[in-house]
Amino acid sequence: MSLFSLTGRRALVTGANTGIGQAIAVALAGQGASVTCAGRRSCAETVAEIQAAGGTAEELILDLADPMAAKDLFAGAGYSILVNNAGIIRRNDSVDFTEEDWDAVVDVNMKALFFTCQAFGRELIAQGQEGNIVNVASLLSFQGGIRVPSYTASKHGVSGITKILCNEWAGKGITVNAIAPGYIATNNTEALREDPERSRAILERIPAGRWGKPEDIGGTAAYLCSPAAAYVNGAVLNVDGGWMAR
Ligand code: NAP
Repeated sequence: MSLFSLTGRRALVTGANTGIGQAIAVALAGQGASVTCAGRRSCAETVAEIQAAGGTAEELILDLADPMAAKDLFAGAGYSILVNNAGIIRRNDSVDFTEEDWDAVVDVNMKALFFTCQAFGRELIAQGQEGNIVNVASLLSFQGGIRVPSYTASKHGVSGITKILCNEWAGKGITVNAIAPGYIATNNTEALREDPERSRAILERIPAGRWGKPEDIGGTAAYLCSPAAAYVNGAVLNVDGGWMAR
C-alpha cells in the first residue's frame, strides 16, 4: 500500500463547504478516505466534487458556535481522522475591540477545536485505536498581526492545544499536528486581497511570489494523516510560501 494511502479510513473535516476545508476534504478523499464534510451550511458542493472524482463523502450540518456541538459525533462511528479547520476572524483596532468579537472567535477557533479533539480522542482511546488530528492554525500562531486580537489569541491557542494533546496522546498512537497557512486565497482573506495596498505589501513578503491556494493546504493535511507522517507529532507546520523564513 502507498505510504500516502488513506484507504479504509473515516475522516471528519469541519468547515468543509468552502476554502481550505473544502480542499482538505477533497485531498483526503483523493487518497481513499471516506469523508464527512461538516459545515454550518450545506457541504453539498464538496460532496459532489468528491463523488464526481469517484470518492466517498457525506455532509453533516455542524455549527461550532456551540463549542460542544461535536461531543456525541464520534462514539461508535469509526472515525480515525479529525481535521479541525472551521474558523472565523473579526477585524478591529484593539482599543475598540468588543467582548462579542472576542467570544465569537475564541469559541469557534479555540474552544470548539479543543472539545472536538476531546470527543474524538476519548473515543479512540476507549477503543484502543490509532488516529490522526490536524488542526488549522495560522501564521498568527507565531506573530501578532494587527487588528485581529481574538484571532491571534485563538491561533496561538491552537498551537498550544496541538502540543499538549501530542504530549498526552502520542503514546496512544494518536498524532496531533497543526498546519499554519500563510496567506491563502479564500473568503477569509477577501478583504485583504481587495485592498490594493495591503495586497501588494503582502505579496512582496512571500518568497514564493504568489498567494497560497486551498489545495496547497489540502495536500499537507492528507500527508499528516498518512502512514508517511507516522512519526510527525506536535508539529505546527508552516505552509506559507516561505513567509516565516523571510
Ligand atoms: P473561509 O473560506 O472563511 O472558511 C472558514 C470555514 O469555517 C467555512 O467553512 C466556515 O463556514 C466555517 N465556519 C465558520 N464558523 C463556523 C461555525 N460556527 N461552525 C462551523 N463552521 C464554521 O476561510 P479559510 O481561509 O478557508 O479558513 C479555514 C481555516 O484556515 C480557518 O481556521 C482560518 O483561520 C485558517 N487560516 C486561513 C488563512 C488564509 O489565508 N485564508 C490563513 C491562516 C489560517 P461558512 O462558510 O458558513 O462561514
